[in-house]
Amino acid sequence: MKVEFYGHVRQYHNIQKEIDANIKQVLESGAYVMGPMLKQLETELAQYHGTKHAIGVGNGTDAIWLALMALGVGPGDEVITHPNTFFATAEAIWIAGATAVFVDCCPKTKCICPEKIAAAITPKTKAIIPVHLYGQCADMKAIRKIADQHKLFVIEDNAQAIGAHGNGFRIGELSDAATTSFIIQKNLGTFGDSGALVTNNAELDRKIRKLRNHGSDKRNVHSYGFNSRLDDLHAGVLSAKLKRIDAWNDNRRKWAARYTEGLKGCGNLDLPVELPGYRHVYHLYVVETKRPEQRDALVKFLNDQGVDAKTHYSIAIHQQQGYPWGKGARLAGPVPNAEANAACCVSLPMFPELLAEEVDYVIAKVREWDLANAATATKELGAARSAATCPCCKC
Ligand SMILES: *Cc1c(COP(=O)(O)O)cnc(C)c1O
Repeated sequence: MKVEFYGHVRQYHNIQKEIDANIKQVLESGAYVMGPMLKQLETELAQYHGTKHAIGVGNGTDAIWLALMALGVGPGDEVITHPNTFFATAEAIWIAGATAVFVDCCPKTKCICPEKIAAAITPKTKAIIPVHLYGQCADMKAIRKIADQHKLFVIEDNAQAIGAHGNGFRIGELSDAATTSFIIQKNLGTFGDSGALVTNNAELDRKIRKLRNHGSDKRNVHSYGFNSRLDDLHAGVLSAKLKRIDAWNDNRRKWAARYTEGLKGCGNLDLPVELPGYRHVYHLYVVETKRPEQRDALVKFLNDQGVDAKTHYSIAIHQQQGYPWGKGARLAGPVPNAEANAACCVSLPMFPELLAEEVDYVIAKVREWDLANAATATKELGAARSAATCPCCKC
């Protein structure tokens, strides 16, 4: 059996009529950029998040640096994030001209550790960017508290968790802005690049609207700005899909529960952890091998068996030679949890349109690998993970 990692074409076929109708509507309207379909999507996104404003932009990376820039965060300012994320989080800090300071993640959730944020704050710190990694929210209540104490901005990198919520908080509620990406791999994705921000701050909304459109909010009048817009064709696709996002995330949660039940007792693996009261939307279902040398072996075994397993992200940002470290970007301290995450992560196929027999096949193959490695199995967590118990989320 072959099991895909993403089901893009399956998803398109399932709602082809609505997508095609929206595309046709845009094509027939003659309004392709900054038109009524974009306005409609922005209204729907704000409603969905329960925020006052939503702004469509060119992609998820732009959304982050546009937010930083609009908040006045730039050269000389430090922005705290964590190194086990997609490269773009750190890239956006660098594009804004600010300095990235990386702290460790929590050992089980892999989201940024609030205690480590507090310890990394200097007089230059201006903002925190928590990433809702793999589809689960970071501890926004704790992060908000720290931000208030030190007067820092908070931007949620929500590229992976649209539709998630925490224990008693929503995305966009406890931050200055939450950014998202609509590239096809994400839980809500279109057939090309685009992204958005949601915010309750009217001034920020106004500034970002101007910045994304050549510094213009009035025809022929410009100030400092860029071109980072969400095309109406993509807005049409996203508007059709947004209606389904909760049902799709429910499906992801159903498959995640099936994986977790089916993989229980695998002695060479740690399984994802969902915090009580949180809605994890499983952008990715990431298991960790107990030992680093097992990561590539498991991926290869699954690939050989027709299962498209991948790693997210096997090289942490601080391990990327290509990051512009010369500009003062640094680790605030040791990051053993992030390093263990990079060294041991294996993502199993995850998308709403998976079939039960496909999930069961993946489970059977992972179990086969686990059994073949029974000699190394252990009930203990991996070395770095057992050494660290997280004082903040108790994970
Ligand atoms: C995908 C992603 C981004 C970047 O989004 P693009 O639309 O590709 O620019 C940023 N942060 C995280 C965590 C992501 O997963």
